[in-house]
Amino acid sequence: MYRGKVLLATKWQERWNNSKGSWTKKFFKEVKFSRLYGDFYYNQVLTSHGVFGVVQNRVFGKEGGCPCGEQLETSEHILLKCKIWGKERDDWPKCWLQKDISDLVFYSPFKKGSIDILKKLMSSSLAS
Ligand SMILES: [Zn+2]
Repeated sequence: MYRGKVLLATKWQERWNNSKGSWTKKFFKEVKFSRLYGDFYYNQVLTSHGVFGVVQNRVFGKEGGCPCGEQLETSEHILLKCKIWGKERDDWPKCWLQKDISDLVFYSPFKKGSIDILKKLMSSSLAS
């Protein structure tokens, strides 16, 4: 790396270390120029921003609970725990449900299954 890029990377890392965004930091400890995730649905899992009730509540003052009765509709709840999406998880290995989401996010079968759930969640949220 040339000197400017090293300096930029150092500054960026410092900013990242001192920023909020603790959810995303679970998955990305270090900044990287080469890394870009361009999936609209999966970025909502990685950032915890988007369709989830907890965000809709914080940003728009909408209801933040899950229709299943859970008080906060988070990405982790939807993907790993919510009974409404149990059928979509039927073919997932049961051990996934015991894991921390940070152990699963870069595993492509989990990513694929999560995107399927998010697509359905988004179309049901738009319909209601
Ligand atoms: Zn739920």
